Amino acid sequence: MTAVLLETGEWSKRRHRAEDLKARWPFSTDVLTFYAALLEVQERAFLGALEDAPRPAAVAAYAAERVMPRIIELSAASGPPALVTAVLGRFDELDFAATIAGWLRSDELPAIERYLARAAAGPVLEALGDAAGAACDGPRDDRMHCPTCGGRPQVGYFAPSPEDLVTAHRYLVCSRCSASWAYARLTCGVCGENDTDKLVVCGEVGTSQAELSSTLVKPGAPRAVVPPDARFPHLRIDGCRTCSHYLLTVDVERDPYAVPLVDEIGAIPLDLYARDLGLTKLVPNLMGI
Ligand SMILES: [Zn+2]
Ligand SMILES: [Zn+2]
Repeated sequence: MTAVLLETGEWSKRRHRAEDLKARWPFSTDVLTFYAALLEVQERAFLGALEDAPRPAAVAAYAAERVMPRIIELSAASGPPALVTAVLGRFDELDFAATIAGWLRSDELPAIERYLARAAAGPVLEALGDAAGAACDGPRDDRMHCPTCGGRPQVGYFAPSPEDLVTAHRYLVCSRCSASWAYARLTCGVCGENDTDKLVVCGEVGTSQAELSSTLVKPGAPRAVVPPDARFPHLRIDGCRTCSHYLLTVDVERDPYAVPLVDEIGAIPLDLYARDLGLTKLVPNLMGI
């Protein structure tokens, strides 16, 4: 029961964070408003799956029957215009279970099918926990692939580890089952590159660790602090020139209310900046960004 309460607490944290950020980040209000509504449908799906405990082999059929219709209904009624058009143009000819089964196999899918499959099956996989792995294909190497399900990382975050409360550790969050795994701080989460000359780390001006902890301040001069108007003091772009991909990294130590999967969706200006640097995200987030 305790585990269930903890897990449902995670969903309400996501919803509250989306509500909070949509007020603070006007450039993402539309996306986060819809995402917050989607989270409500997904939370119900998660709770239903906890109770029903579908077998891993039945995840595609279960999510197709129990969750996909709710996702389509909400998306067609309240989604961004392009999503409404795509959903209405596709859903009546779509084999829901086959689409989800393809997503669980890591098949390349059109964006609209990837969105529907992920929105419907993601919460079911989360409810299954470690058993989610048996529903999915993909290498398990706890490096660039999720050790639980073989999915690719969506976002990274820094947080203290239970064993070492002094140094923040880096973790990656799976784009398929939302599990997290520890990962080297200065290594590309997509291709494993660890030559720092090939890695591109950038954030908002005045918020990088180097700027905040610079030793190049005159004696007696005040230390740098995060600018009060900084919008992304807890976010940075971790890019890689070897594979030309990037992940956003959320510093949960700097903002304890941050929820990596939610902050990643709202940080659209950082995505645009990364694109200007010639970098692409390996796995678009649930909102297709
Ligand atoms: Zn996973
Ligand atoms: Zn790389």
